[in-house]
Amino acid sequence: MSRFWSPVVHTLSPYVPGEQPKQGGVIKLNTNENPYGPSPRALAAITAATERLRLYPDPHATRLREAIAARYDVAPEEVFVGNGSDEVLAHTFQALLKHDAPLLFPDITYSFYPVYSGLYGVNYQTVPLDPEMRVQIADYRRPCSAILLPNPNAPTGIALPRTAIEALLAEHPDQLVVLDEAYVDFGAETAVPLVKRHDNLLVVQTFSKARSLAGLRVGFAIGQRPLIDALERVKDSFNSYPLDSLAIAGAVAAIEDDAWFQETRRRIMATRETLVRDLTTLGFEVLPSAANFVFARHPGRGGAHLAGGLRERGVLVRHFSKPRIADFLRITIGTDEECGRLIALLRELV
Ligand code: PMP
Repeated sequence: MSRFWSPVVHTLSPYVPGEQPKQGGVIKLNTNENPYGPSPRALAAITAATERLRLYPDPHATRLREAIAARYDVAPEEVFVGNGSDEVLAHTFQALLKHDAPLLFPDITYSFYPVYSGLYGVNYQTVPLDPEMRVQIADYRRPCSAILLPNPNAPTGIALPRTAIEALLAEHPDQLVVLDEAYVDFGAETAVPLVKRHDNLLVVQTFSKARSLAGLRVGFAIGQRPLIDALERVKDSFNSYPLDSLAIAGAVAAIEDDAWFQETRRRIMATRETLVRDLTTLGFEVLPSAANFVFARHPGRGGAHLAGGLRERGVLVRHFSKPRIADFLRITIGTDEECGRLIALLRELV
């Protein structure tokens, strides 16, 4: 602590990253990474781009915005890119969410939303999930300036159908609706096709999950031009080179390798089905997941006990201390072998 700190710094805590394995052989199912690795074409493109590191990157990341636009059937001017969706969200808070009426988001959701709200002075209210841990859009009928929803939600993994998103947009034509679709590729419906008809919709996605490039830090937003222009202005004033040359090259190749993307997500969804079945057989209640993780609790054993027991046996999963979800484990979908090992250990622990 220092007397030179601004008041807001006193309210911020150091980032606590997901636990890292201390020894080899640990199975890491705690931070929703993809077990299969990125497209080989992305890796080759990153290597080739090292030849050009002497040069500054394209400040507009034009090739990447064009590639994303082509993939999602929008215009390049409707695409914003940043260092991971975390940075895209941070710019969204700065550019679009500072209003008198509050921003609304679920009480159980991605932990960065309250942090960004504090950092950027955004007034917010949380909306409780329903008894089944679902987002009910009717609960968002209250005075607000904007609504921020992850779809699927994290850490529950539960997704809203596109029809519910359409209803939300129709009910809130004067409020900005930001959808964080970090996990959308594992069985949920993207709202990108709605952008054409709704000037109040911003959809945020990432290359960290289905495209397995968490280490490269690439995320993007899709929305109509006035929203994207606002994000660009904030970005230009913050860092005129948002993405480095390696990230641009790797992300372009990754988005063009649709076959790798489809195969990887198919495998993860297939493993998820087996994992859900096996956990249910062991007596777990598993929330219906459309993400690359499941959220599950056992009636007889607490989440801390199970997470601790797994850690001692070399498997990391995520446990939250927040009272309503303290019984749950959030388990990332690994390979079939990793999930098989997890189930074998849980059999000993429950
Ligand atoms: N949104 C949600 C809901 C997340 O869980 C995460 C990270 N796991 C992110 C955004 C940020 O992802 P990234 O910065 O890697 O794109």
